[in-house]
Order: sequence, then structure tokens, then C-alpha cells
Amino acid sequence: MAGIYVHIPFCYSRCSYCGFFSTTELSQRSIYVDALLKEYQLRADYLPQGEPVRTIYIGGGTPSQLANKDLERLLRALPVAEAEEVTIEANPSDMTEAKLRAWREMGINRLSIGVQSFDEGMLAFLNRRHGSKQAKKVIRLAQDIGYTNISIDLMYAMPYQTMERWQADIETALSFGVQHISSYCLSYEQGTPLWRLREKGGLRETDDELANEMYAYLCQRLNEAGYKHYEVSNFALPGYNSRHNSSYWNDTPYIGLGAGAHSYNGRSRQWNVDNLHKYLREIMNGKVPFKRERLTDTQRYNEHVMLGLRTSKGIEATDELLKKAQPYIATGKLSHTEGQLIATLDGINILNTIITDLMRE
Ligand code: SF4
Repeated sequence: MAGIYVHIPFCYSRCSYCGFFSTTELSQRSIYVDALLKEYQLRADYLPQGEPVRTIYIGGGTPSQLANKDLERLLRALPVAEAEEVTIEANPSDMTEAKLRAWREMGINRLSIGVQSFDEGMLAFLNRRHGSKQAKKVIRLAQDIGYTNISIDLMYAMPYQTMERWQADIETALSFGVQHISSYCLSYEQGTPLWRLREKGGLRETDDELANEMYAYLCQRLNEAGYKHYEVSNFALPGYNSRHNSSYWNDTPYIGLGAGAHSYNGRSRQWNVDNLHKYLREIMNGKVPFKRERLTDTQRYNEHVMLGLRTSKGIEATDELLKKAQPYIATGKLSHTEGQLIATLDGINILNTIITDLMRE
């Protein structure tokens, strides 16, 4: 099985915390889709021959900023009919009834909605385009139109976000009965407006203790509500794990199309240049601008440890790993269950340290 990721780097405006590769040069959207189609042709041999494509993920940036005609051109060229899961990331501000209906007709069967918060103050602080009412309205609209696989993103540990405000966000999310929730701790990426504000002393950062309590509450409340915590940041109702993201953790090959997109074929990783104009120029000249790293056995092993420990399944407890993991098992940071090593909630709080200790040099 294989996956296709398509990166749409366009955003109408920039959020204060965003460190992703994206651009507000919206005039380039249609030309960019031309380039994506060309790249797909140029790389027709990238995925193992005969490997069926199981998932397609249109991510960003803001893919919902594409005009329907451009998205349709793109999806028509991809093996949508054979894919089990076709996801688009969407910003609530772009989600009109017409777009939602058109996306379904194009074969999109999963929405990942960038809600981040239902709290107007938090949304303004993040410089998100949408308001709380709008987010609620479009979730209901998508459900009424017939989408049965909806994920929403929620962010926590934001300055001025109290535990009560976080709990209210979680309750609002649960009230919709969406199938999937992804939740991320706010991070301060160098060079972002948020990072600069912190440098100037213009905000008070949430301390680690409160951030950990918020995460613990999230895990407990979502578990009570029937969501399985299947990866550090991801929770799903039974049968609704993100198949595409799971493939990143399961060593499945995938091709990443677009500026800044990453690809993996089991032997190497490669990533396209994260510069819009360079990407467009080179692709139109028939060349894919990318860098490649061939993975050594040690790198592959370490990636397996790193990605596996992020999941609720964990990693196989080999003698080598058990030896290194003993201090963490003894202190309850890792559990050794049915031959697997699995990070506990306490362990997740220091997961990077654990992973580093378990890796090979
Ligand atoms: S919409 Fe997403 S990619 Fe665009 S600026 Fe905001 S966080 Fe970054």
C-alpha cells in the first residue's frame, strides 16, 4: 500500500505562531496546480510498481484556498477511485456549502478542519481568520452534507489559556461528535510574530506544569468520551484513525508532491525545495528540485523507535531495547506489555529524552 501527499502552500494570511512553509502569493495558485500535475508525471516511477494507493492527503498551507476547478484538475489526475481515504485540510473561513458539496463529488471523504480553538480570544491571539461561530457552523454544515469522517485540530498551552478555557474547548469539540481530534501544544517557532512577542517579554508563556495538566486532561476526557489515543497527538473514535498519518508511522511508502513536500520509498527520504518560485521554475523546465538522503540501517532503526514510541501500539520489546528501557520501565514512564514497549502518559511528557536514550548511536 502507498500514499500520496500533496502540499498546497498558499494561505490567505499568516497565523502568528506559524513556522510551516507557506506563502500568501495567491496569484500563483493555478500555475502551481499545473506544476503539481507535471511533477506527478515526472515522478510516475517513484512509488513501487503495482503498489495500490490507499490514501491521498491534500495538506498545507491552506488547500481550501484552491478554486474548485484547480482542485478538480488535481484530483482527476490522482488515483482517487482506488484510495480508501482522501483528506483535505480546510480552514473554516473557506468552507462554503458549494465547496463542501463539490469536494464530495470530487471524491474527498475526510475533512481535517483547522479549528485550533472555539474561544474568540484565543483565535484572535493566534491571528486565525475564522471566528468560533463560523467554525461551529461549518462543522454542522459538513455533517449535514454527509461527511462522516471529520477531524478537527485543537491547540493548547496558549498564553492566557486557563484550564477552564481549555476544558470548554474540549467540551465544545466533543459536542459535535466528530470522528477524530488532533491536538498540539503551542510551540514558539523562531522568526514567527509569536516568537518575537515572547522575546520582547510581551506575553507570559504557559508553564510546563499547566501544559502537562492540560494534556493529561485531554487524554482522560477524550478517553471517557470513547476516543482511542492512538498516537501522541491523535485521538479517534473506533475505526477512524487517520490511515494516511498512520502510514507515516508504519513504514509505508508515500510520494509527496509540491514545494516543500517530503517523500519516502522504504530506502530513502527526499524533500522538494521549499521555495515556491524555484519549485515552479524547475518543474516547468522538466526537473524536480529535491534533496535526497539514503537511510542507513541505523537511521532506519532509529526512525522505527522514534515513530513507534509515539503510537499506542509502541515498539517490539527486543532484548536490546529492554536493556536500555529498564530505568523508564522502573519509573513508570514506559510499560512493558505483551512484548511491546509503550510510552505511558508520564513517559509522553519526556518522550524525546526516552527516544534519544533508546536509539542506536
Ligand atoms: S493557515 Fe496553517 S499554514 Fe497557513 S499560516 Fe496559518 S498555521 Fe500556517
